[in-house]
Amino acid sequence: MTEPKHGIVLGGGWAGMLAAHVLARHLESVTVVERDVLPDGPRHRKGSPQARHVHVLWSSGARIVDALLPGTIDRLLDAGARRIGFHQDLVTLTSHGWQHRFPPRQFALMCTRPFLDWMVRDRILATGRVSVRQRAEILDLVGDAKRVTGVHVRDMDSGALETLEADLVIDASGRGSRLRHWLSGLELPPLDEDIVDAGIAYATRVYQAPPGAAAGFPAVNVAADHRLRRPGRFGVVYPQEDGTWMVTLSCTRGAGLPTHDDDFLPYARTLRHPIVADLVSLAEPLTSVAVSRVGANRRLYPERLDTWPEGLLVLGDALAAFNPIYGHGMSAAARAAAALDTELQGSGGDPGATRRAQRAISAAVDDPWIMAASKDVEYVDCRMNATDPRLTGGVAARQRFSDLIADRAMRASAVCDVVTDVISLTAPQSELASSRFLSLMHKDRALPELTAPPLTPDELALVNLNPRSTVGVNGS
Ligand SMILES: Cc1cc2nc3c(=O)[nH]c(=O)nc-3n(C[C@H](O)[C@H](O)[C@H](O)COP(=O)(O)OP(=O)(O)OC[C@H]3O[C@@H](n4cnc5c(N)ncnc54)[C@H](O)[C@@H]3O)c2cc1C
Repeated sequence: MTEPKHGIVLGGGWAGMLAAHVLARHLESVTVVERDVLPDGPRHRKGSPQARHVHVLWSSGARIVDALLPGTIDRLLDAGARRIGFHQDLVTLTSHGWQHRFPPRQFALMCTRPFLDWMVRDRILATGRVSVRQRAEILDLVGDAKRVTGVHVRDMDSGALETLEADLVIDASGRGSRLRHWLSGLELPPLDEDIVDAGIAYATRVYQAPPGAAAGFPAVNVAADHRLRRPGRFGVVYPQEDGTWMVTLSCTRGAGLPTHDDDFLPYARTLRHPIVADLVSLAEPLTSVAVSRVGANRRLYPERLDTWPEGLLVLGDALAAFNPIYGHGMSAAARAAAALDTELQGSGGDPGATRRAQRAISAAVDDPWIMAASKDVEYVDCRMNATDPRLTGGVAARQRFSDLIADRAMRASAVCDVVTDVISLTAPQSELASSRFLSLMHKDRALPELTAPPLTPDELALVNLNPRSTVGVNGS
């Protein structure tokens, strides 16, 4: 590409705003094109329906955002976001049993999505280097198979059509991206797409947490056990910035989902342990149930095409979207933005620079992709249409190995540290195959298995929780 001067980002969501901020460090001007009006406060909007559900930002993603926008983590925490140290501040029933609460190795930020998006977007827009064209719908790309030179947009209020020209166009229009269709319009061969769909669905309600809870009650997580070979049910109670609990119940294909308020608590009672239901029954509901059925893993492979147009990149959910249970989408988008930043430094716009940048962005999403997709194929009735050879061969052996690791990580602190580094996307997944880790698996002392949620008497007292909740695990 010739040295790009003007960039256009398609979509003003999480990935689009981070990408725009990175572009603004290298280009003369950047425009984000967005269908919605982006709120000037922590409010919901149509183009971000997932924002009604639980979101965590892993430490890896939080650190990247903080490096791009120094001070962001502190601002989020000062404004009430909770920093949950893994595993000190989390009480979790994993597929293999209760996790010991080892000293924190990594953390996740917990707060509502509208709040997080607004805090980050506000800081990006305050730089004055990114402009947003709101209420504008992207229709298709302008250019040919060799080079993309802009986009066609429609003003959503007047209906007027317009061509916006750019040296660099970044598709960050989310899961609904029409990139494959747009590329076929430029006469490029079809872009490979993998889909691994365990039928994940979410049902979420917000509750007023008991007064003591905001101060220090841990986050709670009850997972399904994939080894039972039946549809799985999950539940979490996560603290938010405003003293509320966001409670999400979720499932894999065939496990049903509570879609009415009256069904929410009874469904929570069917999880492998009653703790989520017991917490819910202590708290006052503030919202009705919101449902999402968007949870398939989906990945495009632009790096596989022989020809890739100069001046075009894709990132965020438009490139790769994951089962949300792993909480990787925003961190993967942050990794992609960091990769873009590195590629733009000193590229000088030489021929092939776009292709190299796309390769680097695609590499940044490979770990979260394979982690989520290879786990989800273990759930019954998972539907797969995938070309990734790691998903089509040696599945049983990989599952046995990952079960072994999960079992050990629950009870052995040094093993848990490495696994937490990997799950938080801080260390590469290849770490789990290193000789150092294999030797840890062998040597690290395992604590006895926990038979009840590891809550302290003080924590129980904070929420007036009946100790019954700390006893026993449902056999199911
Ligand atoms: C239920 C659920 C829970 C999740 N939980 C987590 C979590 O805990 N942690 C985590 O990291 N991730 C989580 N995710 C994933 C996370 O929400 C996404 O990875 C992230 O929002 C992706 O950002 P994005 O900018 O790529 O896409 P989006 O957020 O979808 O943004 C795309 C933007 O493009 C705009 N747009 C789309 N088409 C057009 C068009 N034609 N013209 C103009 N504008 C357009 C949209 O309005 C939108 O603003 C979850 C997802 C779901 C569904």
